[in-house]
Amino acid sequence: MTSLPAPWLSAPGLLTPWLPAPGIPTPGPLAAWLLDAAAVLAPVSCGGCGVDGRSVCVRCRDELVPSLREVDLGGLRATAALDYGGVVSSLLSAAKEHDRPGVLRALAPPFRAAVDSMLARESEPVLVVAVPSSAQARRARGYRPVETLVRLAGRRPAPSGVLRQIREVDDQAGLSVAARRRNLSGALRAGPMVQGRCVLLVDDVVTTGSTLREAARAVSEAQGAVVGAACLAHTVKRKATPR
Ligand SMILES: [Zn+2]
Repeated sequence: MTSLPAPWLSAPGLLTPWLPAPGIPTPGPLAAWLLDAAAVLAPVSCGGCGVDGRSVCVRCRDELVPSLREVDLGGLRATAALDYGGVVSSLLSAAKEHDRPGVLRALAPPFRAAVDSMLARESEPVLVVAVPSSAQARRARGYRPVETLVRLAGRRPAPSGVLRQIREVDDQAGLSVAARRRNLSGALRAGPMVQGRCVLLVDDVVTTGSTLREAARAVSEAQGAVVGAACLAHTVKRKATPR
């Protein structure tokens, strides 16, 4: 079962202008009605499991109950709400690779739990800064999934560009920890807005933490104070099964 939406749902001039744009927290009654009507006229499939019906089915939503865990990223403390894999991986893939930003709504509550648990520890105002995706990925998607998640979670992200990639990097997948570090070293730069501010870094998935550490380095270089990181999901290392 494909998770791609019916082509006419994204065709300009049809329903698109009436559907909620990415980043708007809650669809109004009209938009919700239109989504339901669209589901009847051109059935959508669940971005998590592919079953026909709503864009994220009840069973998949049940998999998204946050279970906060602290992750030590070599001196940078991070909180993640979910294990990466299964439904979480499918939903992020639907949002990022298959042009279905609407499924991010289902991921917003656990993401908010992680963000709020970090913000609750701070007495000073905190700037919420999203780790940027590559320029190539931004162009392909036309939106920034992590900033959209922050908005859907009811928090205000720092303006895009406060933290930016200043050179292209290789795909991190498949690289060792040391190679990831080399690949990312000096790749990010933070703007003057972070100077003297408390900064919470946010990202969708944390694996080795290389990207978040590079982001923290860039913020520190610009004289910002990183209070930690909040992520939707954490990639749990699986122990090799003895054969
Ligand atoms: Zn499902």
